Amino acid sequence: MMMNVPLTIPMMFEHAERYFSKKVVISRTAGGVHRFTYGEIAQRTRRLAHALEKLGVQKGERVGTLAWNHHRHLEAYFAIPSMGAVLHTINIRLSPQQIAYIINHAEDKVLLIDPDILPLVEAIAPYLSTVKAFVLMSNTDLPDSPLKPLYSYETLLAESDPAFSFPSIEDENQAAGMCYTSATTGNPKGVVYTHRSIVLHAMALGLADSTAVSERDTVLTVVPMFHVNAWGLPFACVWFGSTQVLPGPYFTPQLLAEFMETEQVTVTGGVPTIWLGLLKELEQKVYDLSSLRGLLCGGSAAPLAMVRAFEEKWKVPFYHAYGMTETSPLVSFARLKSYQDGSEEDRIQSLTRQGYMVQGTEMKVVGAEGEVKWDDKEMGELLLRGPWIASEYYRDERSDDTFKDGWLHTGDVVTVDEEGSIKIVDRTKDLIKSGGEWISSVDLENTLMTHEAVFEACVVGIPHEKWEERPLACIVLKDLYKGQNLKLEILEFLHTQFAKWWIPDDIVFVDEIPKSGVGKFLKRELREQWQDYYVG
Ligand code: ADP
Repeated sequence: MMMNVPLTIPMMFEHAERYFSKKVVISRTAGGVHRFTYGEIAQRTRRLAHALEKLGVQKGERVGTLAWNHHRHLEAYFAIPSMGAVLHTINIRLSPQQIAYIINHAEDKVLLIDPDILPLVEAIAPYLSTVKAFVLMSNTDLPDSPLKPLYSYETLLAESDPAFSFPSIEDENQAAGMCYTSATTGNPKGVVYTHRSIVLHAMALGLADSTAVSERDTVLTVVPMFHVNAWGLPFACVWFGSTQVLPGPYFTPQLLAEFMETEQVTVTGGVPTIWLGLLKELEQKVYDLSSLRGLLCGGSAAPLAMVRAFEEKWKVPFYHAYGMTETSPLVSFARLKSYQDGSEEDRIQSLTRQGYMVQGTEMKVVGAEGEVKWDDKEMGELLLRGPWIASEYYRDERSDDTFKDGWLHTGDVVTVDEEGSIKIVDRTKDLIKSGGEWISSVDLENTLMTHEAVFEACVVGIPHEKWEERPLACIVLKDLYKGQNLKLEILEFLHTQFAKWWIPDDIVFVDEIPKSGVGKFLKRELREQWQDYYVG
């Protein structure tokens, strides 16, 4: 028998502290670019854990972060779970109501807040019922703020012990982190990561057939640290001793390209919208990207033209991965097997697929008549299981629809080729993914149908060059209003109720919405009918 040593976040952290203390983290905040060694980060992390303990944070309690990608957020990533508390990264792109909801639902005790996000927290503060203290993540003097008590991150660190020792974590299945993900309608749903799941997932990022992150890498993490733990990259990089580049709040394509060149970045990760922006930048100015061995893309489908541009024009190997908040996220990775020696065109095409299960994850694809054939034609829903796949939502009765018989039902509809590589062909969840963020079509429809002139409204996500997908509203007007041009008025009506980026780019007025036998909107038909509308 083997030793039963728990897999924990302090174990990863202490490895870096001990063996990689000279390696660096390059981080950009509103205050400029900072370079810290892991040795320095380690001391700051211990100080932060001590400071949070002094603020009264106890084992198992949640500490929320509202922050961009920078060294302070990285310190929080390790300090909070290592002291036995739970790191709750909050997606700052959700609506203020949803942010207030998830802070209350998670019962966050302390919030760590970036300076530019302070006004948002000030606005929702009256609705927060569990937060006992706020910490501003900057080294400037504290502004006048209604948030009470409000502490300065750097002052707290200065007053705390750099040799603070973490309590031992005996149970690797203890909660370490949590993240909320959008639901079809209503409030977001919480996913809780354990120490064990985070460690095993980090290990998977080091596998040679996935991203193979190692000590020799310099990793530029563009995917926000409030999105599924930045795909686990910060955890893996610390453990493996990789140099990290954290681009902060202003990650323009130019800034990213400059970082890639000056810091000799080897691996970078982000959603397609980011990489489309980078491609534009590369057309305008010459950068040396020869150090890049992998550009990791996930969160939405990777368009063929983009894969081709990186691979063929810019000679940057394209890493296409698939996953979701519920899956930590890494599930599958696109590649050809060693014996698949097809043409260059086959290779490029294969990179647009979602690919093969990463070792440790298992899939089952189920159609109307049971598991589908691996013929790349039969479609079915992708079901997943594995040690870094959630088994439920946090205190949420909606769990039963997603987690059934030991499998996570992803809502992604796929085909499987004869080698076992998956390809997403549709989505059953009624959500639209625009630039890596979700928009609820159901919420838009419900609101549209409260407009006095609207008889029926159906909102679908259709392809868009910049944002991958954008909403289009298909509306049937009531007879009394037929023929009137109400587009602007209806859009204006939506503006009063939703964030700007949720508003459909256009409205088309139709005579009827196609429906199934039981009267449900056939969104697929509408999507097919209008698929070229934005890309022309
Ligand atoms: P993330 O923050 O990683 O995007 P979400 O939970 O918000 O995670 O979204 C997960 C969903 O995004 C998946 O169920 C799928 O619909 C879509 N998705 C993720 N990766 C890909 C991909 N590589 N190709 C196509 N769709 C993807």
